[in-house]
Amino acid sequence: MIKVCKFGGTSTADGMGFARIGRILGRDLERRYVVVSAPGKRYGGDAKVTDLLYASHRELIDGGHVRDAYAKVEVRFTGIVRELGLEFDIAGLLAETKDEIEAAREEAFTVSRGEYLAGRIMAAYLSVPFLDPRGAVRMDAEGKLLAEETDSLLRAALKGKDRAVIAGFYGADPSGMVRLFPRGGSDITGALVARAVSADLYENWTDVSGFLACDPRIVPGPVGIEQLSFRELRELSYLGADVLHSDAVFPVREAGIPIRILNTFRPDDGGTLILPAPSARPSERAVTGIAGKKNFTVIHLEKSLMNGEIGFAHRVLAVLKRRRISFEHIPSGIDAMSLVIDSAQLKNGALERLLEEIGAAVLPEKIYAIADVALIAVVGHGMSRNVGTSARLFQAIARAGVNVRMIDQGSSELNITVGVDHADYERTVRAVYDEFFGKRA
Ligand code: ASP
Repeated sequence: MIKVCKFGGTSTADGMGFARIGRILGRDLERRYVVVSAPGKRYGGDAKVTDLLYASHRELIDGGHVRDAYAKVEVRFTGIVRELGLEFDIAGLLAETKDEIEAAREEAFTVSRGEYLAGRIMAAYLSVPFLDPRGAVRMDAEGKLLAEETDSLLRAALKGKDRAVIAGFYGADPSGMVRLFPRGGSDITGALVARAVSADLYENWTDVSGFLACDPRIVPGPVGIEQLSFRELRELSYLGADVLHSDAVFPVREAGIPIRILNTFRPDDGGTLILPAPSARPSERAVTGIAGKKNFTVIHLEKSLMNGEIGFAHRVLAVLKRRRISFEHIPSGIDAMSLVIDSAQLKNGALERLLEEIGAAVLPEKIYAIADVALIAVVGHGMSRNVGTSARLFQAIARAGVNVRMIDQGSSELNITVGVDHADYERTVRAVYDEFFGKRA
């Protein structure tokens, strides 16, 4: 068995964190490839090294040199090496890194040094080779991953290496310039490494024990999700369940490699296992999890005999395309159609212009917008097996006295999405949770 382990910034925040990782790896020798993030926050109000490096770059551009922010980065890494009691020339490496940063004057290069330094120290601590992703993770000049090239480069770089530490979050374009993934992108590096070594499992170590069935800020102490499929994960993360970077899913999904989300601070918790396909031994539950997000707008259109009008939807969507606006859902009926749009795209008069243009394009009898809609997705493969799931869902919402503004069941039988007013959001999530996961104690 080969396991690839990615450790996030809270796991690498200090020397104790590095030592904890050492123990986790020591307990299971199948954990052979380790991807690290830059040190994150040690306590509330602390700074992430990545943020300090963004600030260092601004210092460099403004004053010609890195200053206080970079000094803080140096203190963090020096502290980690000291706490570990590691014999490692960190002063030399930091001085060299500072020179390189000041010579390059490139934001991505500066910022990538958090993962680079963390990786170098981790490799020394574990006495395994370090792999710099600059030569193995390939992006284009816009920072878009070149997946196939990366796969062969990583495969070649790791061939014959029984173990390795790889820095997360960055790679380089064909000219050798460092490029970054989006924030939180070490998850993506981990997935790429897992695919390249044909891992049996991608362990993603973080500071929570996996996914919860619902947002704990709304329902205190919700149950954990033991197992979910990649498709359920996609539905839940789309509306805000954000334990794992969503781009991290594709490389491992394609390769059929499961992911386990684990908690560095509670390594014995089972976490959440994410499987390429729904499990052969499905859980009894109709619903796997509930996710939700505010700030959507629903544009509602009505026109008699809409169903017979050729090209109606096409003309509506052409307006969206022209205005470069994307939609989330389009629930429709025979004479009605709704567009659910992220409200951020409709600011500064954009909504009014859109209504006007759609009105002119299809001449509806009615067109109006409902602002401040929250979407709640109720997700689970179990839905298709459990008769009456939607009846239970809508009864629970009705009992809570909530008016549903939009319903979309999708075509996947995996998900029912409802739209409610912002003011009803939390109440609805609680009612749905109680219905499917039982009353809380
Ligand atoms: N260090 C980067 C960030 O803070 C990447 C990561 O942690 O995955 O976003």
